[in-house]
Amino acid sequence: MLKLAIQKSGRLHDDSMRLLKECGIDISNGVNKLKAEATNFPLELYFLRDDDIPQYVEDNVADIGFVGENVVFEKAKKNTIVEKLGFGKCRLSIAVARNEEYTGTAFLQGKKIATSYPVLVKSFLDKNGVEAEIHEISGSVEIAPGIGLADAICDLVSSGSTLFMNGLKEVETILQSQAVLIRNNELQPEKMKLLERLLFRIQSVKKARN
Ligand code: ATP
Ligand code: ZN
Repeated sequence: MLKLAIQKSGRLHDDSMRLLKECGIDISNGVNKLKAEATNFPLELYFLRDDDIPQYVEDNVADIGFVGENVVFEKAKKNTIVEKLGFGKCRLSIAVARNEEYTGTAFLQGKKIATSYPVLVKSFLDKNGVEAEIHEISGSVEIAPGIGLADAICDLVSSGSTLFMNGLKEVETILQSQAVLIRNNELQPEKMKLLERLLFRIQSVKKARN
């Protein structure tokens, strides 16, 4: 049986379930909130926090997972990206107070940046030859400048309305992201065959949607 990890609740949950449904896979609604089984495909579902999915896939607790590229790249676990899934689209961007005059990455030199993505921010800063102080916070990053915790933030953006409501403006995009299918780097041949079958269905659904 192929073990698939998806987000338990949040922005990726409904689209993950919808994709399986459109693949013709029916999920039994068991009482267990952690696991569920498909009734017509050798698939077992694990409901997890999205941040934990790359680790569980690396550890073989799950064979495959649906998770945002932003999380895959930040965690940098031993996973292989197999397929883009076409939902959960967003970008990871740097934002500063709307009244700041931002002229380029040099603005960030010596500044404090609040983010939940320290690895991706560090690599962006290094690439641009900028040294800044990274403050890792786990949520509500967008309020950091307003309360004097940081000069800039780096967070996920889709419409930009959250930034706007917090008096911020987007100044750099460091990653374009969407949900992807990841797999463990060393899946057994039988699991690989199941993955091929699932992938064939996912690709058909994607084609039909376009
Ligand atoms: P969890 O409880 O699973 O840790 P979370 O609060 O970290 O959930 P969500 O806000 O549900 O996560 O976002 C999950 C994923 O949805 C993100 O990692 C990203 O890939 C994607 N996403 C798409 N659009 C947005 C957006 N506007 N803001 C945040 N995430 C987005
Ligand atoms: Zn999360």
